[in-house]
Amino acid sequence: MSSSRRLFFALPLPDALQQQVIRWRADAFSSEAGRPVAAANLHLTLAFLGEVSAQKEQALARLADRIAQPGFSLRLDDLGHWPRPGVVWLGTRRAPRGLLQLAELLRSQAARSGCYQSPMPFHPHITLLRAATQPVAIPPTTPGWVFNAETFALYQSVFENGRTRYHQLEQWPLAPQENR
Ligand code: ATP
Ligand code: MG
Repeated sequence: MSSSRRLFFALPLPDALQQQVIRWRADAFSSEAGRPVAAANLHLTLAFLGEVSAQKEQALARLADRIAQPGFSLRLDDLGHWPRPGVVWLGTRRAPRGLLQLAELLRSQAARSGCYQSPMPFHPHITLLRAATQPVAIPPTTPGWVFNAETFALYQSVFENGRTRYHQLEQWPLAPQENR
């Protein structure tokens, strides 16, 4: 049996924010718009790693141990629809520097470790709906929640019983925020 796992680094959403997002989502989108992502699966991907061997996983986790980036806050004030992957997402109009630096660091470590990184620019987003391939009415505004990112985590993506679940494998703290 292969010991490789499908992995990614992401920001977990604090529980309270997960609940706020799913409550709002139920009113903001029609049930035909797409398949809602389960509350526990809401996340913001920083670096997708793909299928990774146990050895490479260890190496990437030990590199993550050395990251000493500050936490940051982002305002969730942007919404969009990507019809081709069929994704409706929640994002930010102004990504904080701390977020871009953290993603860049993890993505460059991944690339150097041999994990293919998409040449597409990083577009931070939280997927809200999947299988949204038809036109979707996107609300003009969001509640504008502020997401305080204090940790990042390594996740395994597992497809079982017809659905995808993420298992958090390891979590790292971000340093206290610099400019509050
Ligand atoms: P599924 O693909 O089973 O429908 P999923 O997309 O949530 O569900 P994964 O494909 O394992 O599960 O992806 C895990 C995370 O990594 C998701 O946030 C996904 O958007 C992101 N991701 C997947 N593939 C890539 C990629 N090639 N480049 C960047 N991010 C990716
Ligand atoms: Mg996928």
